[in-house]
Amino acid sequence: MELHKPSYYKHFRCLAGECPDTCCAWWEVPVDGESARRYAVLPGDLGEALRAALTADEEGEPCLKLTGGKCPLLTPEGLCALQLREGEGAIPAVCREHPRFSYDYGAVREMGLCASCPEAARLILAENHRLDPPEIGADPPLSDPDPLLFPLLDARQVAIDLLDAPAPLSARLRAVLLFADALQALLDEEDLTAIPGLCREWRARFPTSKGGQDAFAPETGEALPPRRAVLEKCLAALAGLEHLREDWHTLVTDRRALSAPPPEETMGARAAAYFLYRHWLRALNDGDVLSWVQFSVLGTAAAAALAPLCGGFAEAFRRFCLEVEHSQENLDALQDFFWDDLSLPEALSLAGAPEEDGPAGG
Ligand code: SF4
Repeated sequence: MELHKPSYYKHFRCLAGECPDTCCAWWEVPVDGESARRYAVLPGDLGEALRAALTADEEGEPCLKLTGGKCPLLTPEGLCALQLREGEGAIPAVCREHPRFSYDYGAVREMGLCASCPEAARLILAENHRLDPPEIGADPPLSDPDPLLFPLLDARQVAIDLLDAPAPLSARLRAVLLFADALQALLDEEDLTAIPGLCREWRARFPTSKGGQDAFAPETGEALPPRRAVLEKCLAALAGLEHLREDWHTLVTDRRALSAPPPEETMGARAAAYFLYRHWLRALNDGDVLSWVQFSVLGTAAAAALAPLCGGFAEAFRRFCLEVEHSQENLDALQDFFWDDLSLPEALSLAGAPEEDGPAGG
């Protein structure tokens, strides 16, 4: 199986007691079967504390119940009592893996870091997205590759490369949306053979210099809806989601977010590339690439809007990921929002800078 990892993946080290936040709070800690069996016989006070904290989640799977919103094994210094006494191998698998994620697509396994972790978010925003050379993992491919897998991987690279083009971020985000819209039409028609041609066509449109950015210029004169109204609608959608922390609802309903400056060009593009890398291949399961590009634009725009309220873009980006990406319910709700409530012109408007409500693309 081919393994894909972003270049920052190998640099991750948990900040442990130095972490400005902690992942050992706010959510129940799932306990894998092997760990649960070990905890059943762990001697001493720690074993007793572990067994007292073990409970079952809604699906009946073992987990550690929180005490005062935190893992009961978290020390006042922000360290894990179990890891301190028994070593890293003793902690539940999810704690060893977090914030790493891994998605299997048959012939390819994609790995990455969740931006909900402050150190992961810092690494993600510190460099342009690129993958290390693919490795061949020990696991054999799980199945014959989906015929859409490699065409979608090629198309994702086009989208990520568009984000690197020498044009304003608003033009780059709009180009990615228009490319995804064209790709979605091919997916809807089940015309997979046309995907390589579409990728070639869009590569040929890449501007090679700032002066060449007209290659991204929209083609129709249709006016886009006002961006502020679209942003307000998107923040209202975020306010309607399940939230992990109480202050999230306060943040996304704070009207000061509507007049925040646009994302800084480099960090905005890196955030969008993170979302594209992480979510694009969901289209293999749901046939829907456009929604996940809209998600990328929304995540980038929301992070910019909340940045002044959160103390900066990086923290706002992290909070968006924490509240939205760890909840399948929230991801599903946003996908419904994109299907039912956000038109392409509205998404194009959201991608723009606050002061511009330019013409729609075609
Ligand atoms: S949020 Fe990240 S850096 Fe902080 S404790 Fe968890 S894994 Fe470590």
